[in-house]
Amino acid sequence: MEISRKTFLHRVAAGAFGYALGAPLLSAFAEEAPKPGVKFVDGEQVLPAVPATKSELTGGGPTRFARNGGPGFGRRIAFTFDDGPHPKNTPRVLDILKERNITATFFMIGGNVAHFPDVAKKVAEAGHEIGNHSMTHPQLNRLPAEKVEWEIGQTQENIIQATGVTPVWFRPPYGAFRTDQGPIPAARGLGVVWWTVDPRDWAEPGIPKVTDAILKGTVPGSIILTHDIHKPTVDALPAILDELLARGFEFTNVSGFLGSPYGGPPGTVPPGITPAAPYPPAAIPGAPAAPAAVPAAPEAPVAEPVKA
Ligand SMILES: [Zn+2]
Repeated sequence: MEISRKTFLHRVAAGAFGYALGAPLLSAFAEEAPKPGVKFVDGEQVLPAVPATKSELTGGGPTRFARNGGPGFGRRIAFTFDDGPHPKNTPRVLDILKERNITATFFMIGGNVAHFPDVAKKVAEAGHEIGNHSMTHPQLNRLPAEKVEWEIGQTQENIIQATGVTPVWFRPPYGAFRTDQGPIPAARGLGVVWWTVDPRDWAEPGIPKVTDAILKGTVPGSIILTHDIHKPTVDALPAILDELLARGFEFTNVSGFLGSPYGGPPGTVPPGITPAAPYPPAAIPGAPAAPAAVPAAPEAPVAEPVKA
């Protein structure tokens, strides 16, 4: 089925539980900027990147916060794809990765998982790690706890239902997350991870600019942020990956760098945190129902925790 990007976003917006987004956001890391008046967006406005403070990376009580793989990782880097799954572009990414035997991490929007559970399942079956990226892509730092809890908890459930995989890493949309909100993802066994290389591909600045930003910015330990919902990103991907491979980089996923955030199997919560109850497998009105029975899928590979 042919589906345009506009149609895709419209479908998502039509069903999303959006919240009014207006004022510019200054977050620890600017990912995509919200378009005022639109409930679900993939970003159109450039915001300045603001370096994270030490407390932003280490605060939040027992919650694990991470920005990169850190030193001591040899030539390893982690490629990440946010905001999918997308019915057309995500399968293309899977093919490109498979041709090169590369593993990656996909931070999925729970609403999109509800619309395209089969695509989410294909990502998991290909052996890639799946992360939690909220239900509707809001600025979570501005929402009350119960809405943040739903954004993360419902997404977690949608991913589990569609793929059989329990995510262990959460990436906040726009990087907008407060350290005092950390216990919410931690109660579902999720660590919070940002990124180190941002080519701003969501603005579709052109293949040369996206390619340059990634190739210039990538060093050992980098976590590279891209978006599998954007066709130009996918078009740029083969040459980018081939050059990184030629430079001797080795691809891992986020857990390949950072391990299990709390040292156990998926769902393990840190000491002092009460595990949150699962959400029912409901999602966006009008979206295809999640499969009643999910065949066993391989868990995301989780490496031993590595001291950074
Ligand atoms: Zn995003």
